[in-house]
Amino acid sequence: MTIARRKSREVTIGNVRIGGDNPVVVQSMTNTDTRDVEQTVEQINSLAEAGCEIVRVAVLNDDAAWAIRPIKDQVTVPLVADIHFDHRLAVSALEAGVDALRINPGNIGGQKNVDKVVDAAKAHGSVIRVGVNGGSLERDLVEKYCGPTPEAMVESALRHVRMLEDRNFDNIKISLKSSSVTDTVTAYRLLGQQCEYPLHIGVTEAGTMLRGSVKSSVGIGILLWQGIGDTLRVSLTEDPVAEMAVAWEILRSLGLRFRGPEIISCPTCGRTEIDLISLAGEIERRLQNETQSFKVAVMGCVVNGPGEAREADIGIAGGRDKGIIFRHGEVIRTVKGGSNLLAAFNEELDKFLAERQG
Ligand code: SF4
Repeated sequence: MTIARRKSREVTIGNVRIGGDNPVVVQSMTNTDTRDVEQTVEQINSLAEAGCEIVRVAVLNDDAAWAIRPIKDQVTVPLVADIHFDHRLAVSALEAGVDALRINPGNIGGQKNVDKVVDAAKAHGSVIRVGVNGGSLERDLVEKYCGPTPEAMVESALRHVRMLEDRNFDNIKISLKSSSVTDTVTAYRLLGQQCEYPLHIGVTEAGTMLRGSVKSSVGIGILLWQGIGDTLRVSLTEDPVAEMAVAWEILRSLGLRFRGPEIISCPTCGRTEIDLISLAGEIERRLQNETQSFKVAVMGCVVNGPGEAREADIGIAGGRDKGIIFRHGEVIRTVKGGSNLLAAFNEELDKFLAERQG
């Protein structure tokens, strides 16, 4: 079943097109001090290598804004400057070559300042992302809605957006983040019905690796399944590079985009005769930098494994005395058990990958 995507208008950040019929784009944010050009460049490039397509950097002061210039010279992914309250930093970041801004026009000190930011964004052809966070909503909206509800978040976002529209600026993307999965989903659904701007989706402050991945997968997954979301970020209390694997796995699970192999492995049961958990871990490590998309199966018994994993392009099923390697359920090699298994599988995997490339 294909997902019917919400209709959104197309905008471009650097060389990445967002919204419209374009695929959902994976984003993240650096956690380095942006003034530290070397470290920031290193992290941006690691993110890009792991599949990040747009990177946001925090711009806290003028030095950070101007650091964008040397950073841009050493990276290829588009950059978004994350700015709170200070319109001068936004203008400096644009002059330094940033591709987009994340700034809320309602928080930068009035019409004159909004005009300056809008003029600079227009001059540079840059997108402005309005980013509303449930934790920092305007007080009047919190009072009106008796809390930071999804409705309050949507009204806040549209209020900021209107300030840009009033200045004939519509190169806009919107995000609405809450640490509550249900509020996040409700807010995006409401907003999605009220405008056609592309939406950046994610669950904020989702948590550490396990909890953050689960919350993000549920929230982002529900939204994507409903066709909502043009860019996404999995927010984890982790090295941001770790977010990439989760983000791409969410996209893969929904059949939206594919990057790198899918590894299926059986849950093990009373018939398992080998250390399947270690074997699956080894194979996952072996394939962690592979970008080709195919299906690998790691199964715990030779009797049921190949059949259960028939749809895998290549797979291994291990028993105490022997293991088998199969392609699409057909056995292509039988090996003795033990450490031979992994070595033989790696050989067959190399052949398989060479054939695909050839
Ligand atoms: Fe059990 Fe074999 Fe199925 Fe794994 S493949 S769960 S070991 S029956």
